[in-house]
Amino acid sequence: MSLIRGYSLDLKYKFFSVNVSEIVSYLYCPRKLLLVRCLGLRDRALEETIEGVSAHIIYGKLTQLYMEARRSNVDYWRLVEDYLNTVSFPRARELAEFRYRHDFTVAELEVFFKIDGVRGRVDVIEDGVPIEVKYREKVLDRDSVQLAWYGLLIEAVRGVDVDYGYIDLLKSCRRVRIELTDDLREKAVRAREKCIEVIFRGDYSAQRNRCGKCSVLRECRLLKLA
Ligand code: SF4
Repeated sequence: MSLIRGYSLDLKYKFFSVNVSEIVSYLYCPRKLLLVRCLGLRDRALEETIEGVSAHIIYGKLTQLYMEARRSNVDYWRLVEDYLNTVSFPRARELAEFRYRHDFTVAELEVFFKIDGVRGRVDVIEDGVPIEVKYREKVLDRDSVQLAWYGLLIEAVRGVDVDYGYIDLLKSCRRVRIELTDDLREKAVRAREKCIEVIFRGDYSAQRNRCGKCSVLRECRLLKLA
């Protein structure tokens, strides 16, 4: 059976555009989707404290330095040592070593894609492979759905095949390869449809078993939604 490919996607409700991050919010809790859409709250993972945000920024900079070292044929570590002297993040060297272990030729950062019915911003694309960066120690189901959407978007916009992607877990400095199987693509497409149906119906039910770890718990309680 041939895979669902982004360039041959025939989306239901293609007149209605959602962001990939909204699909991920829906998968966490439909009520979170409401808060993200209507109040413009960011669906930022709870782990994304100042430490997480710093790790993301530093990892992006290290990726740029890696590219610069390749392009100019200079030693990555020479560039990195200078950079590390300017940051006070305790795990910066660990991140630099993690970056060094994963070679690439061309990297693109924060790439925005839009097709009829869905849009999203990919953290990093290395040699055509999408990478989602998380400040966590493990991969969650919804991360794979998110990555599948990025693969589909790249396929749709660039007309290429994307068979896998990676989740870079900055907390444990681990890269996890995710195969973009037909099942996962199907799951991603279906999640978008269900997310849109929830918006159409206005039926944002609460997943209360997840409130304890929810990043918008405070706002949700203030509005008496939790
Ligand atoms: S606090 Fe609970 S009900 Fe509110 S969005 Fe989060 S998980 Fe859903």
